[in-house]
Amino acid sequence: MSTHISQLHANILDRITKAAKRASRSIDDICLTAVSKQQADNRIKDMLATDQSVFGENKVQEAQARWRERFADARTNIQLRMIGPLQTNKAVAACKLFDVIETLDREKLAKALVKAMDKTGRRPELFIQVNTGEEQQKAGIAPHELDTFVKNMRTVYEIYPVGLMCIPPAGTLIFGHAPSPHFALLAKLAKRNGIKNLSMGMSGDFETAIALGATHIRVGSALFGKRN
Ligand SMILES: *Cc1c(COP(=O)(O)O)cnc(C)c1O
Repeated sequence: MSTHISQLHANILDRITKAAKRASRSIDDICLTAVSKQQADNRIKDMLATDQSVFGENKVQEAQARWRERFADARTNIQLRMIGPLQTNKAVAACKLFDVIETLDREKLAKALVKAMDKTGRRPELFIQVNTGEEQQKAGIAPHELDTFVKNMRTVYEIYPVGLMCIPPAGTLIFGHAPSPHFALLAKLAKRNGIKNLSMGMSGDFETAIALGATHIRVGSALFGKRN
C-alpha cells in the first residue's frame, strides 16, 4: 500500500488529535469524512487500506460509479455521506446510496426525500445546509430562516435533522476570509434548535472548526492530494 496516502492520513489524524486537545474535546466526538470526489482510484484504494471508514461525495452519479461499481466490495464497510447539492430527481438514488445526506436545503427537497424514503425503505440521517455567508450562488438555508425551516421539517414533514452543515465563503486570509464567525454562527444556530452535530471545516480550516465545536469535518485535498 502507498505510504504516501497512509502518511497523509496519519498526519491529519494527528492534527485532529492536537486540535481536540487544545479545545479540551474528545477525539471520539470528531468524525473525519474523507472527501473522495474526483480522486483517482489508486488513492481511494490506498485510503481504504487505512482504518478510514467514512467517505464523502458531492455528486450522486460519480458516487454511484465509485461505490456501487468500482469499489462496491468496500461499500458495506464504510459510511457514505452526501455533501454536495442534491436535485430532487436524484432523491431516490441518493437515499439508496448514502447513509447521511448533509445538504437538505429547501422544502421541495424535503418533500422529495420523504417520498424517496417511503419508496426505498431507507432513511439516511439528514443535516441541514446553512448558507452562513448568505452568498447568492451558494446553497443553504439563510440563517434567519433556519428556525422556521427546522420547525417545519419536524411538524410538517416529520423529518428530524441531526446536524447542520456549512461552507464558509471562499477567500484568503489576506482578503478577509475568516471562517471562525461562520463556524460560531452554525454552532449557535444548532444549539438554539436542539441540533447536536456540526459539519464544518475542510482542508484549510478544520482545526479552527474543531475549536468551535465541529463534530464532523470534511477533508479532501489534505488527505488525498490535489483533485483531478
Ligand atoms: C470538496 C468539498 C470538501 C473538501 O474540500 P478540501 O478543501 O479538498 O478539503 C468539503 N466539503 C464540501 C462540501 C466539498 O464539496
